[in-house]
Amino acid sequence: MKQTDLLIIGAGPAGCTAAIYGVRAGLKTIVAGGAMPGGQLLQTNDIENYAGFINPVGGFELMDNMLKQCKRLGVEITTDQIVKLEGTKTPFTATAASGEQYQATAVIIAAGASARWLGVPGEEKLRGHGVSACATCDGFFFKGKNVVVVGGGNTAFEDALFLSQFCPSVTLVHRRDGFRADAVTVEKVKNTANIHLQLNCVVDDVLGTDKVTAARLKNVQTGAVTELACDGIFVAVGAVPQTAWLKGSPVELDEKGLVKVDYHQRTNIDGIFAAGDCTEPEFRQASIAAGTGAKAGIAASNFVNLHR
Ligand code: NAP
Repeated sequence: MKQTDLLIIGAGPAGCTAAIYGVRAGLKTIVAGGAMPGGQLLQTNDIENYAGFINPVGGFELMDNMLKQCKRLGVEITTDQIVKLEGTKTPFTATAASGEQYQATAVIIAAGASARWLGVPGEEKLRGHGVSACATCDGFFFKGKNVVVVGGGNTAFEDALFLSQFCPSVTLVHRRDGFRADAVTVEKVKNTANIHLQLNCVVDDVLGTDKVTAARLKNVQTGAVTELACDGIFVAVGAVPQTAWLKGSPVELDEKGLVKVDYHQRTNIDGIFAAGDCTEPEFRQASIAAGTGAKAGIAASNFVNLHR
């Protein structure tokens, strides 16, 4: 069993920032980041709203820098996927899928969130055969093909812009005519000739036998159903917190599966903290994840210093 002062579960902006504060407070700090440490930003192209970068920074580059910064400061980063967290008072035991166990004086849960799916017929069967939730990862395979993007948030709009660079036609399907995406990004999309908006519509079926051939669209105002031929469907309808593994643990979740935290990022268990998208109902931003990670890192360091 590995012993540590602070175990951080998750290696996105929240986990990395918490680790920076933990290690700089003198704590032995381990980040269990899963097979691909870095979180959702690894799937983001250009980030223009994370302060400190004059020009847009790639999500991969930003996370790579954060991980390297952690390592330079002495944080140990492992690829363990934590599947169980036990204990109602310090020290806590975390078990990884590999069987590795950690005993930690304090724990910060920074497990992030993952793509939400539409849950319509055909979607699950054709995942990896034209249905994707990551334009950055899979967009390349759709060069020269016509695609659909579903959603009205920043992810959908940025995915549409990204895909429009190499797809002849990108149709953005959104269930209403108002957007969550930033005005600047919406304007860029509206000014891109090969992006078409299909508003007040939902994809209610993904058609195709071995690969996607069309999206069935339903207009939510008129009820009219049409088929839109396409080769790929990129689903960008938000995220769900990655907390299913905590069910059965003493850590309290809300009805949406978010870890409940107070102002100090404390959970209901003294010594277990949480930060980032797994706690965030509304403002899922890298800088906010980093900010709550900083709070959790400071609060957890204070806890460890009182308990070791
Ligand atoms: P989001 O902002 O929650 O938007 C999700 C979109 O999907 C909404 O437009 C929503 O419609 C729609 N939607 C949800 N469930 C649906 C369903 N079942 N069927 C059809 N449509 C559905 O999610 P996001 O775009 O992934 O962004 C998440 C967070 O990351 C946001 O805070 C965003 O600002 C941030 N982000 C920032 C950047 C950036 O700044 N560079 C890039 C990407 C993401 P309604 O609007 O009708 O609810």
